[in-house]
Amino acid sequence: MIEKREFYIDGGWTRPAAAHDFQVIDPSTEEPCAVISLGAAADVDKAVAAARRALEPWAETPAAERIALVRRILAVYERRLEEMAAAISLEMGAPIDLARTQQAPCGPYHIEGFLAAAEGFAFDRPLGPHAPHDRIVYDPVGVCGLITPWNWPMNQVTLKVIPALIAGCSMVLKPSEIAPLSSLLFAEIVDEAGAPAGVFNLVNGDGAGVGTLLSRHPDVDMISFTGSGRAGTAISKNAADTLKRVHLELGGKGANLIFADADDRAVKRGALHCFNNTGQSCNAPSRMLVQAEIYEDAVEIARAAAEATKVGPADAEGRHLGPVVSQAQFDKIQGLIQTGIDEGARLVAGGVGRPEGVNRGYFVRPTVFADVSNDMTIAREEIFGPVLSMIPFRTEEEAVAIANDTPYGLTNYVQSADEARRQRLARRLRSGMVEMNGQPRGTGSPFGGVKASGSGREGGVWGLEDFMEVKAVSGWTNG
Ligand code: NAD
Repeated sequence: MIEKREFYIDGGWTRPAAAHDFQVIDPSTEEPCAVISLGAAADVDKAVAAARRALEPWAETPAAERIALVRRILAVYERRLEEMAAAISLEMGAPIDLARTQQAPCGPYHIEGFLAAAEGFAFDRPLGPHAPHDRIVYDPVGVCGLITPWNWPMNQVTLKVIPALIAGCSMVLKPSEIAPLSSLLFAEIVDEAGAPAGVFNLVNGDGAGVGTLLSRHPDVDMISFTGSGRAGTAISKNAADTLKRVHLELGGKGANLIFADADDRAVKRGALHCFNNTGQSCNAPSRMLVQAEIYEDAVEIARAAAEATKVGPADAEGRHLGPVVSQAQFDKIQGLIQTGIDEGARLVAGGVGRPEGVNRGYFVRPTVFADVSNDMTIAREEIFGPVLSMIPFRTEEEAVAIANDTPYGLTNYVQSADEARRQRLARRLRSGMVEMNGQPRGTGSPFGGVKASGSGREGGVWGLEDFMEVKAVSGWTNG
């Protein structure tokens, strides 16, 4: 059993103020695999105080030195990539190959994106030729509370910690208590890279405890959060009394609009994308909207894709799906699959219960529903499991209306050979991102949503700006 009871505060590993053990469960076996501590007010206060002391010196450190620290973090992270993959695989059930090829490499990918963005970023710039004595200065927001989920742990941690460091902020990270091992390793990486004491701190805890304490803390200037809408609302309310800045990255219910002129691989690609990471991605294309002419063929292709998708333990090599993260997620997904059946959707693959021959671990059957109408529960709620809902449409107009008829607005997808149509749709879909014809977004592209999917953008220049305040200065004389 791994024992990681300490927190990283003020440049060192510290015992919690009071013992409060919490077991991390291996989702493949349902057995405890590690024990951590849940922090309390004394731990949060200590970490916030350390961050507050470190803020000014760090903010005044030249940007080039802050960027040099991030380069060292990148080098140590790359050296410890295999350890990172193993930690993520164990804590949240990602199959080891997925952890090695997608989960752990998210870190270096985003770090490189931020380094490129920082390279050309003018932290201090003239307003314009019309106002020669005006200067725009980018200041760090201050002490940041960073609260992250379990589904893509290093994706979300690096999207917050790295821009905060470059911006000159100090911070307290509270990773998900369900998947804390990767963040504890990340703290070791930051330590090894030589971050000044107090700039980066980590306190483990749950949402009701450390999450709430950080959100309310008068000495925390900003909360950057990724996770559920429920927690996003609670954080916003808890942060309101101290008027801190709140950045929210919440859920999604992405529509994938597949037109009759789409390429042959569009349906299979969409189904596999929905199932990737066992469906536990906020940007999963979980509603597949298919034009009537090709709808029945598409249902067949999606059924075959689901039936060909293997499910297995996280430590087995290969391209299978792992378990979902927890008993709570397993139960929620089972309930939603049953609701889909009860509300009259046509079950074409998968269904309730574990895959055949499996009686332990939070394994879910890759599931496809056809003839879903957009008002059914499975079309409205974020399922966060390998469950695809297929909805037929006739016209472009109807497809846009269905796609936009959701509380969410994170990522939508369009598959069509018609460039003019794709561009029209890219403008009309109400979401922070639109991906077309299977082309992924480039490094440094801003990630984030509208409506119930949150606010703010992560990654690249936009992700950097989210951790800064713009200061307008006049009376500045050049030279
Ligand atoms: P969650 O929102 O409860 O947890 C995410 C993080 O927020 C964790 O670190 C948790 O400790 C913390 N947290 C929880 N309540 C808090 C509070 N009141 N104040 C401050 N911090 C708080 O997510 P979950 O329960 O693990 O998952 C539930 C659902 O959330 C999933 O089914 C999925 O729909 C959604 N989710 C979305 C994302 C995403 O990337 N957008 C990630 C994880 C979960």
